[in-house]
Amino acid sequence: MMVGSEMKLPEDFLKQIKGVLGDSFPDFLNSIGQAAPTSIRLNHHKPISSIAGKPVPWCSTGLYLGDRPVFTLDPLFHAGAYYVQEASSMFLEQVFLHLGLASKPIRILDVSAAPGGKSTHLASLMHQDSLLVANEVIRSRATILEENLIKWGVGNVVITNNDPESFQKLPGFFDVMVVDAPCSGEGLFRKDPESRNEWSEENVHLCSKRQRRILSDVWPSLKSNGILIYCTCTYNPQENEENMQWLSEQHDAESLSIPLQNHWGIEKISYKTITGYRFYPHKVKGEGFFISVIKKNSFQDEVPIRTKRKPVLPPATILDELSRWLNHSENFTFELIDNYVIAYANALTGEIDKLNNTLRVIRSGTTLANLKGHKLIPEHALALSTTINKQHFPSLDLSLNQALAFLRKESIILTEYVKGYTLVTYQSQPIGWMNILDNRVNNLYPKTWRIRMQID
Ligand code: SAM
Repeated sequence: MMVGSEMKLPEDFLKQIKGVLGDSFPDFLNSIGQAAPTSIRLNHHKPISSIAGKPVPWCSTGLYLGDRPVFTLDPLFHAGAYYVQEASSMFLEQVFLHLGLASKPIRILDVSAAPGGKSTHLASLMHQDSLLVANEVIRSRATILEENLIKWGVGNVVITNNDPESFQKLPGFFDVMVVDAPCSGEGLFRKDPESRNEWSEENVHLCSKRQRRILSDVWPSLKSNGILIYCTCTYNPQENEENMQWLSEQHDAESLSIPLQNHWGIEKISYKTITGYRFYPHKVKGEGFFISVIKKNSFQDEVPIRTKRKPVLPPATILDELSRWLNHSENFTFELIDNYVIAYANALTGEIDKLNNTLRVIRSGTTLANLKGHKLIPEHALALSTTINKQHFPSLDLSLNQALAFLRKESIILTEYVKGYTLVTYQSQPIGWMNILDNRVNNLYPKTWRIRMQID
């Protein structure tokens, strides 16, 4: 194991952090020479029993694992039964709990959402009638975000690919927003050599300026009394509490406190009018992290939402069949868009129209099927959806080796089967579809998601 001092940390960073940490600096250095703990967050909609670990104290679905398995080789990972996420970030749950954000339907924006750690968590924490807009400005990263959210399977999600500035077209739209800003990454030094190489005082300054720009851009789309949750994976005050102080001076905003338990090891910091929470790897079992919560006190005009709309409905002949594909299908509106059938929660169709007319939407709702002539071809997103009516489809539970072959998009040899579209599961969790024909089996796993890793 390398000790922190052998790891070649930037000199100027060491000087700064030594000044802040004082006597605990050697412990900090020692901790970043250690291996980072491995943690996952379980998807409570997709219960599994085969993974055991120690609980993350501030997150009811968080688990520390004893060692780091090869997640790619676990079909449950591809089923969206859990998300691999470092533990400090899971503190988001405490903010939700303390502020009662899960108790009623709200609109949430995750401004910088890829690869999807906070978004999948928000989708699990939010009320079942809430709406989550998961946005990512970089197109290639938005594709990864999309894959992770499809796997997570929660339907009330809209994935967008916009610059934060675009949200100015939605004044007062959101009740809650998470700004998990791009940062200098000091908290990732032990995991990510690139963040060590890229660090400089100048880069910290540039990050701080970019964070202020992002905050200013999205602020108008937060409602009066709305909540902004700001977080970074850096310790640097310029990117953290100083930015929150700056935001509260620009606008009428109030910093909120979140109760802590002493044994968690999280450090509460007070800076002028701002309260924030810092996570150091020598004090918590997790990576470096900062979080602060601010409430908007000023009046904000709200964008009107029209509920009168004319969606294109799928042909009446297939509506009956579709209604059997989802649990509680009476809560959904089915729409036909470019020959794809999409299910939207009835309560959210007005909001989704507004977003479609305002932003670059990559995906919304749950895509159920591709309509080819009169035939419905079930979509992968349906297989992984938390609302699929599994009983309606023939299904086939695969062994580990078969499931890995399926995830590599190889053909599977079956001895017993029912013909037609079959839901493929592993330990009862859906991982995709196959179409079983007279003379062959078509593996419908998405080509771009297939496992490419060499397996012995
Ligand atoms: N929230 C994510 C999660 O929990 O998985 C991690 C987000 S990461 C810390 C920051 C994200 O900000 C990256 O996905 C990056 O592409 C995005 N980003 C980069 N420049 C940005 C900008 N100017 N405005 C908004 N987001 C930006």
